[in-house]
Amino acid sequence: MGARIPAEGVPGVDAVERAERVGELWPRFGRGSLRDMTGSEVQSVTATEALARLRQGNARFVDESPQRVAIGGERLRRDLLAGQAPFAVILGCSDSRVPAEIVFDQSLGDLFVIRVAGNIVAPSQVGSIEFAADRFGTPLVVVLGHTGCGAVSATIEELERPSGGGSPNLGSIVARIRPTVESLRETELVEDPARLAAAAVRANVRASADHLRHGSALLEELVEAGRLRVVGAEYCLESGVVDFFDGV
Ligand SMILES: [Zn+2]
Repeated sequence: MGARIPAEGVPGVDAVERAERVGELWPRFGRGSLRDMTGSEVQSVTATEALARLRQGNARFVDESPQRVAIGGERLRRDLLAGQAPFAVILGCSDSRVPAEIVFDQSLGDLFVIRVAGNIVAPSQVGSIEFAADRFGTPLVVVLGHTGCGAVSATIEELERPSGGGSPNLGSIVARIRPTVESLRETELVEDPARLAAAAVRANVRASADHLRHGSALLEELVEAGRLRVVGAEYCLESGVVDFFDGV
């Protein structure tokens, strides 16, 4: 329980205020939340603050001046044995070029990350996010797509030249992206493959974010209560920049 810092002598101070005071004494790790004197997790970061932290981390990554990814080691691991309180959930693509902790320059215990090809939303992804939001009070969910996404391209190809008979497991991913691509193919974008692919990545992020906002009673309740925000973003493979473009 190395993370515990005594909070005696502050009667009448509520748990969040107490955690903030503790946070002032514990700036080294800059954690999103802390434990109160009873050992319960206290999330002291708002969605706006969490978003700002991600933007700052991505700016450090782009500037090639990372600070957080280098933080680790025995002391932090020991502190985190007491529990985790990640300040953001990232639902990203499995693409090896888009590791969430690195592109946002965050450390152990900072992010609750779910990665799946095409950053699709299926029941296990919803369940994972419900777990983090409910258990840790994590206030922000980011659906993180990226330029040049192979899962989105594969879906476009499948619609143009249906192969049929492929792996049903891979087919289940394509099936999640398919409705989004189908509606874009009904527009003039169908004449321009590069623009279609770029628009499909963003539309797929929006579809996943909407699914999370409305596809779970628990998450919808938290969103309506102002305790959870779901935003969509796109990572640019070329520049390294994350553009938050949906729900911000
Ligand atoms: Zn991808």
